[in-house]
Amino acid sequence: MTWPFARKALTFSGGVHVPGLKTQTADLPIRRLPFPDTLSIPLLQHVGDAARPIVGVGEHVERGQPIAEPTSDRSVAMHAPATGRVSAIGLAPNAAGHMAPAIFLEVNIDSSQENAFERPTNIDTLSAPQLILAIQMAGLVGMGGAAFPTHRKLALRVGQRIDQAIVNGAECEPYLTSDYRIMIEEPENVMRGIEIVLRITGAKEAVIGVEDNKPLAMAALRKCVPPGRPIRVQALQTKYPQGASRMLIKALNGREIPTGGHAADVHVELSNVSTVAAIGELLPAGRGMIERVVTITGPGVDRPGNYRIPIGVSLRYALECAGLRNNAAAVLSGGPMLGTAIARLDVPITKGVLGIVVLTEKELSLKPQPVYACIRCGHCIDVCPLGLNPARLGALAENQEYETMASEFNLTTCFECGSCSFVCPSNIPLVHHFRIAKASLRRKRNLQSRSEPGTNKSQ
Ligand code: SF4
Ligand code: SF4
Repeated sequence: MTWPFARKALTFSGGVHVPGLKTQTADLPIRRLPFPDTLSIPLLQHVGDAARPIVGVGEHVERGQPIAEPTSDRSVAMHAPATGRVSAIGLAPNAAGHMAPAIFLEVNIDSSQENAFERPTNIDTLSAPQLILAIQMAGLVGMGGAAFPTHRKLALRVGQRIDQAIVNGAECEPYLTSDYRIMIEEPENVMRGIEIVLRITGAKEAVIGVEDNKPLAMAALRKCVPPGRPIRVQALQTKYPQGASRMLIKALNGREIPTGGHAADVHVELSNVSTVAAIGELLPAGRGMIERVVTITGPGVDRPGNYRIPIGVSLRYALECAGLRNNAAAVLSGGPMLGTAIARLDVPITKGVLGIVVLTEKELSLKPQPVYACIRCGHCIDVCPLGLNPARLGALAENQEYETMASEFNLTTCFECGSCSFVCPSNIPLVHHFRIAKASLRRKRNLQSRSEPGTNKSQ
């Protein structure tokens, strides 16, 4: 049976057409980096609680061996990304600019990049709770940037019903192509991962949403759909932010996530395609997550590509392998729309890093432009995928009327996609204003909750 799919590319209302800038890396197959001398593996690379080391300083570890265990349901295991010796357990800088606990590994650089530690498992014999536990022990976290523990996302809360699994293969951010290469090179892993997700959640069908500028990825996936299975590949219009949860779900099945809600509230399990591929690859092999594919690209590198990088490799080392140019002026983690600037290069690549974009003075010098008054053209309102009024929000932000922004203009639902700033002819830094407003409101709420009698942080 051929599962029916809409021939027309689906989409949401609003959004913008941003330059794709993907040609530097889209056609380059995934490559491995040589091992560096040392790795630093942070014990907290996800949203939740840090893992606890189960190895001691001086201990020899094999590539793939568990080195830290979960400390709670909000935690995941960690594994040695290379064979070597634990040289220290202590504090290391992270991308957020803090010092955080990490395991340092002195790498045996002559060792093989084969995984030396695996426990092949017949996953067909595992129950849903056993599969969830296996995902936690494999150390899997969301690879689309959020780094939320995958097992927690898949474990249904009491009373929750999931009828559809949606796999996010949109990759709408400019420059990034790691998901694209995974879809082309590992479609079997994607299908295996989907089957596991369907079993865990009880969803009746799975839909992989892929932007229509990726026909090769769609063809590779469609070729791998097991006959008779309720898995379909659906084309989406190429438009930013097509890969945002709300937009993707709205485009694919018309459901709207309520304000402050999640995909599960509309009976959807939503996963990034690289996460699903990792589930399909690691679980049957009984392996842990020790590496990931990262797009390293932009005008600031000589050898852009999609690199399979061991977790814990320093960003500086990865960039040097990719040919960091002397004129590099800014390094972004993620794409230019939703990514964040990285202040230092001695931080490790972690499980949630999907791309590194290196810009030069040339691109940056295009940025500082004069800001003019709002001309009420309404472009920002047209493109806001949530139907917000960015012009009004911007005007309120200039007067620091943050409470009104939140109470009357739904500031908190804004997910800072940047579409409004992108189209504003007056160059008003709308998203920048919204971030400041949200930070100010957060600070105020924190102060209020601390000063309220009986408020207990741990509750
Ligand atoms: S208001 Fe927020 S959600 Fe709407 S376009 Fe601007 S950044 Fe995106
Ligand atoms: S796009 Fe800019 S100038 Fe136009 S209405 Fe919005 S804020 Fe005003």
